[in-house]
Amino acid sequence: MGCASSKKAVSVTPAADSSGIPRKGSGSRAIPASSLRSRTGSELRGNGEEKEEEEEDKAGLKSASSLSARLGNLHNYIEGEQVAAGWPAWLSAVAGEAIQGWVPLKADSFEKLEKIGQGTYSSVFRARDLETGKTVALKKVRFDNFEPESVRFMAREIQILRRLDHPNVVKLEGLITSRLSCSLYLVFEYMEHDLAGLSSCPDINFTESQVKCYMHQLLSGLEHCHSRGIIHRDIKGANLLVNNQGILKMADFGLANFYRPGQKQPLTSRVVTLWYRPPELLLGSTDYEASVDLWSVGCVFAELFLKKPILQGRTEVEQLHKIFKLCGSPAEEYWKKSKLPHATIFKPHRPYDSCLYETFKTLPASAFDLLGTLLSVEPYKRGTASSALTSEYFSAKPYACEPASLPKYPP
Ligand code: ADP
Ligand code: MG
Repeated sequence: MGCASSKKAVSVTPAADSSGIPRKGSGSRAIPASSLRSRTGSELRGNGEEKEEEEEDKAGLKSASSLSARLGNLHNYIEGEQVAAGWPAWLSAVAGEAIQGWVPLKADSFEKLEKIGQGTYSSVFRARDLETGKTVALKKVRFDNFEPESVRFMAREIQILRRLDHPNVVKLEGLITSRLSCSLYLVFEYMEHDLAGLSSCPDINFTESQVKCYMHQLLSGLEHCHSRGIIHRDIKGANLLVNNQGILKMADFGLANFYRPGQKQPLTSRVVTLWYRPPELLLGSTDYEASVDLWSVGCVFAELFLKKPILQGRTEVEQLHKIFKLCGSPAEEYWKKSKLPHATIFKPHRPYDSCLYETFKTLPASAFDLLGTLLSVEPYKRGTASSALTSEYFSAKPYACEPASLPKYPP
């Protein structure tokens, strides 16, 4: 499943990725803690001293130091409340926003079963919620010696998951930890399969309408992420989960980030598993957009037809070479305009023509058109998740099947 280079190339704390976590809170839904409901600044201010400060504010006399002292007090107050609610201090200190409004779930209300997944910085277990009897997936997050940066990195994943709410995006149901605990588990609904496992299984051959059904679900989930200002940055079969009802959900937001169109802060180019990484990232772009995800979706789409990853480079140079050989190299104009950091080293001596058509000539025309759009070397030609959903591929016969009609695959 997946490729070896995977996330190992990515440092847990992407230095160049300065877009960071926005200040505003997230639209949390799960486990509301009535006692902890987010309070506004005015609710927290109660005493006369602060009233006086407010007066000064109005008169324009407020100094920067009094503001930072007040913010400091506010943080201490929130941290105190979070610790009182059962959160460990190390988590509240660094990831206060991510846990705001939630209460931790207790480890002893779950029965931990077998390990079902292993990533670079996490292990995933199947478990049973003893109260409801429901099967869940527990993602145990490892920290590098509680480095605040690695806790912050995990906090971003939680914040992003809390901001998303869509049938095709995995739902974070809660967090398990306790005041004295050194670990943190993310609790998710349990999904029986992932798309990498299914598409690499020799006994499984998807029909055209089944591929369409998966693609429709993937693009719907992605449209939601992009509409909420989130780029996933690690789309691949292993991160696309499928349950026994045929529902596909995007998972693993560990590399995801917030973005705003036209944002100035640079983003790290060291994201996305190598085989699914778009050419602009291989060329070192730091001002890329949501279209990076559409490239990865194109790779997954082709993989569903060919039953194996289509671009299996061993190094970044080889990956880029394979891309140019399959999809053609970009026009001279693109090299000139894009000012990509590694363009001078990686630009091929002679231009390559696309051989996408020869490779996928057995595909129906509308499927090939969508694939060609998603696998455009120039990012702006990839369209959007929404335009893909309205493409002819989905209105042409055979239509996408219903998720419930997909076979129940054995474990
Ligand atoms: P990492 O960031 O370490 O890659 P993931 O969130 O991708 O972590 O989880 C690793 C693997 O665990 C996935 O590829 C999948 O096989 C399995 N997994 C993750 N979440 C679930 C879930 N909700 N249900 C079932 N399996 C899951
Ligand atoms: Mg993963």
